Amino acid sequence: AKRKPAMFQTKIEVVKMGEAIPGTGNYTWQIRDWAPDSWRSKPIKQCPEYPDKAALDKATATLRKLPPIVHPREIVQLRQHLRDVAQGKAFLLQGGDCAELFDYCRQDAIESKIKLLLQMSLVLLWGANKRVVRIGRLAGQYAKPRSSPMETINGRQVPSFRGDILNGFDPEERELDPDRMVKAYHHSSATLNYVRAAISNGIADLNRPLNWGLGHVRDPELKAKYEKAVSFLKDMRNFMHTIGAENEKFHTVDLFTSHEGLLLEYEEALTRLLDDPRSPPAHPRKEWYNTSAHFLWIGDRTRQLDHAHVEYFRGIANPLGVKIGPTTPPGDLLGLLRTLNPAREPGKVTLITRYGADKVASLLPAHIRAVEDSEYAHTVVWQCDPMHGNTKSVGSGIKTRQFSDIFSELQQTLRIHKEQGSYLGGVHLELTGDAVTECLGGSEGLGEDDLSTNYTSFCDPRLNEKQALELAFLIADHYRS
Ligand code: PEP
Ligand code: MN
Repeated sequence: AKRKPAMFQTKIEVVKMGEAIPGTGNYTWQIRDWAPDSWRSKPIKQCPEYPDKAALDKATATLRKLPPIVHPREIVQLRQHLRDVAQGKAFLLQGGDCAELFDYCRQDAIESKIKLLLQMSLVLLWGANKRVVRIGRLAGQYAKPRSSPMETINGRQVPSFRGDILNGFDPEERELDPDRMVKAYHHSSATLNYVRAAISNGIADLNRPLNWGLGHVRDPELKAKYEKAVSFLKDMRNFMHTIGAENEKFHTVDLFTSHEGLLLEYEEALTRLLDDPRSPPAHPRKEWYNTSAHFLWIGDRTRQLDHAHVEYFRGIANPLGVKIGPTTPPGDLLGLLRTLNPAREPGKVTLITRYGADKVASLLPAHIRAVEDSEYAHTVVWQCDPMHGNTKSVGSGIKTRQFSDIFSELQQTLRIHKEQGSYLGGVHLELTGDAVTECLGGSEGLGEDDLSTNYTSFCDPRLNEKQALELAFLIADHYRS
């Protein structure tokens, strides 16, 4: 009997892993009782209630017809890179805006972010002496979880801003509009298109002089350290040039994309059953790929084991992140890993830890032990997000973060992993290539009075270019000393 293709069937027959789908000649890697929409039968947090269901159906129908934004081959390549990270052979740098706006889909904003991530990765390469895997929080980081459904603007109560994919920042545009999902698709595609174009045309070319601009660094000792690193990197570049050792790899660079997989209506519509590029063409094995980004993560507010987000994530072939923090009981971790990575593939799951500088020392060791003393030892990527546990309000309620807290959490995290015999494989940062004044401190010594100079974040405070680069130097220093 002929079977309909499995795509978007709600009820999929349970097929054992690696078995042929009867009558199709295709092999499948079907996750039991899972479909792109099986999350709909579970309880869900942060779920939008769209007022106009017909408009919602129209938007998701439009999305289903559009081509993938990323290719399975790239997703599989990132999975292999993250396997190396889990095994201590590479380092993961992930960064970008807290809330990406459609308006950031501009040449200058995209270029400055690529350049900053590249520059940071060179510093990390020099410091840790390991290959660096780069993932941007970009080309799709448009949905934000909020702690409160309403907020006060100019004395008026309005629905909270939930990110450009859901509603508008303008208080008059706070109603949920499903058509924004289609706009998000087009802005993601345009952003990634320019990332690809810029990279394949030499923006990351190491033979171009990079502007390291260290003039702002006030501390002479720090400045001397940075200058030493920069001159080493320049020498290395010149040396490679002199001996003619530059190959293709030295001219180009991989940059993968990521976002929080929050809005499942959108993610479901871009989830496609496609050939695993590693399987033989004569017997293609199919997997479900989320084609909206290479890497997606589950946020701190939506990682409940029996809820919708974990249900959706367990079925996709992309590498995944899960934010964990002070509200994660160590006992929950194995349940999450068994659900999200039953095959125990190294690098499939990245645990993104975010506690706060004052809590990390008391909470991280138990999380490490829960994983590393189990059958999941050496399979996860441990990544430090030193941003989200260190948000504070100052003055008239402006959200900020102290650079020294961010660095302190990172430094303690590095030390704790060393003591526990585990490997800190990466960092997850909120940053921008622009000269914003959102986080306090750093080598420029930004103070509370400086915050109003250029505070442009629509959500959490980001490191500016100088602060981000400084953090990279401090990590490099940890490895070299
Ligand atoms: C974020 O990464 O912007 C975020 C909301 O983080 P968390 O889920 O860790 O609070
Ligand atoms: Mn954030």
